Amino acid sequence: MSDYTKPLPRPTVSSQPFWDAAKRHELQIQRCESCGAVLFYPREVCSECLSSELGWIRASGRGTVYSYTIAQAPTHPAFREDVPYVVAIVELDEGPRLTTNIVGCDPAAMRIGMPVVATYDDVTPDRTLVKFRPADSV
Ligand SMILES: [Zn+2]
Repeated sequence: MSDYTKPLPRPTVSSQPFWDAAKRHELQIQRCESCGAVLFYPREVCSECLSSELGWIRASGRGTVYSYTIAQAPTHPAFREDVPYVVAIVELDEGPRLTTNIVGCDPAAMRIGMPVVATYDDVTPDRTLVKFRPADSV
């Protein structure tokens, strides 16, 4: 029994491979077998060509901060002790953007365009969250 009390994502049929990969500390994103588009978030059909032939590729885990905000007030009571924390949109080197947290960084040091790398937070025995940290902290 985990003592982790924060809300957790609920995997769907489409997103289960993403969560399974996160558990292995890998970032997996979809690529359309028909048109080659690289996609995130996980979905059932390609947003570019509507093909349902979607495969998975291992992303580099590298990207840059596309946008961010510093949460000074918790967005949920469970995050009360975490403020201030950074909620960001990271643009992966492969192209897609994903919403995440930036950790291991003073919020005051956040910058648009900051290089970041994926880091894996094993919050429960069954669930790992994908977050990012500054690339120069690796
Ligand atoms: Zn496609």
